[in-house]
Amino acid sequence: MSQSVCILGVTGSIGQSTLKILEQHPEEYSVFAVTAHSRIVELVEICKQYRPKVVVVPAYKVDELQQFLARENLNDIEILQGEAGLIEVASLPEVDVVMAAIVGAAGLLPTLAAVKAGKRVLLANKEALVMSGDLMMQAVHDYKATLLPVDSEHNAIFQCLPEGYFQAERNGQPKMGVSRVLLTASGGPFLNHTLEQLEMVTPAQACKHPKWSMGQKISVDSATLMNKGLELIEACHLFAISEHFVTVVVHPQSIIHSMVQYVDGSTLAQMGNPDMCTPIAHALAWPKRIQTHVPPLDLFTHTHLNFQEPDTTRFPALKLARQAMQAGGLAPAILNAANEIAVAAFLNNQIGFTQIPNIVEATLNQLENNAADSVEVILQADCSARSIAQQLVMS
Ligand code: NAD
Ligand code: MG
Repeated sequence: MSQSVCILGVTGSIGQSTLKILEQHPEEYSVFAVTAHSRIVELVEICKQYRPKVVVVPAYKVDELQQFLARENLNDIEILQGEAGLIEVASLPEVDVVMAAIVGAAGLLPTLAAVKAGKRVLLANKEALVMSGDLMMQAVHDYKATLLPVDSEHNAIFQCLPEGYFQAERNGQPKMGVSRVLLTASGGPFLNHTLEQLEMVTPAQACKHPKWSMGQKISVDSATLMNKGLELIEACHLFAISEHFVTVVVHPQSIIHSMVQYVDGSTLAQMGNPDMCTPIAHALAWPKRIQTHVPPLDLFTHTHLNFQEPDTTRFPALKLARQAMQAGGLAPAILNAANEIAVAAFLNNQIGFTQIPNIVEATLNQLENNAADSVEVILQADCSARSIAQQLVMS
């Protein structure tokens, strides 16, 4: 029987790649619900092509969407609005699979709702897991949800772990012969820039990633290495290991998407051309495999694979994230919120590139770290961190 899919953040880069895969497999999957925050014209095109039953947009976009849909004779599509709408579609009984591809903290409540409804959740929205770590993983367990990593590195690690790994005890230690996880990083567009050069980089340069085509926020995160910091935290939660067992390896070619080391001296790597359609297809079909348009890797054109240690002097964001994971509690949520504000300010030309980690660090220093024992407490910390980071942007 065909699986019914809800795509949270359908107009984004991951949302679009997800549609590409679904389009290739119309017998296996149907699009039941989609959500978007802006880009209503693109959303209407998606509605014309995929005929979802439900669409979610912010309240102030409902009239505009309604008019567009009426013009296309698509009045039978139900429109829901705002955060309540996102939470509702993520947990609808008709939905089997939820692609969590909203960017940033806005994805937390809908992703958690999908988990609590016991769905198969394909996680692209790493910020949701960074913020709510233990709480989200506990909910996955309690509500018998299936959480599958879409982030290419985590998807690679998932593919390299032994079968049954997720049924083992979650105690911060690698198990079943695993000794270490090697999280690869492309190093972003400024890998070889000096600190002086980093001070001068523009948003346009930061958004031009050498290997991946992605949304603006994650592109800037890749350039500061905060993306790798968020991914380090994401890996600790997904695979139930302490940060001590995760090594970040800069690998500029982005051919190896991450690795798992074993106690017998083996290192398993997952490789492929850098295209998000591969991890999306893997997570959609797991444990089966489905066809994508991604060409097979031609190793004769990739004769050099390089590896180096990350430089946390030029890219302090990675160190801040590791420290936040060590500190635990609300620190990762504070780090994430301050980073979202700082990245938005950089994209808006309000601050320079090297100020991004400074603002994150100053925000972490100003806020008390408590236990992250409820969503309310996490959202409160998110809110406080945003307001402090915003003041720092203005000062
Ligand atoms: P994007 O900016 O291209 O798209 C974001 C989507 O979220 C859009 O559909 C937008 O309408 C929606 N959105 C934005 N703000 C919202 C809000 N406040 N409320 C509701 N919806 C909102 O982002 P992307 O590159 O597709 O990334 C999405 C997520 O996937 C991010 O968490 C990112 O870290 C993760 N991710 C992306 C890639 C990639 O290659 N793009 C790779 C790995 C992980
Ligand atoms: Mg990634």
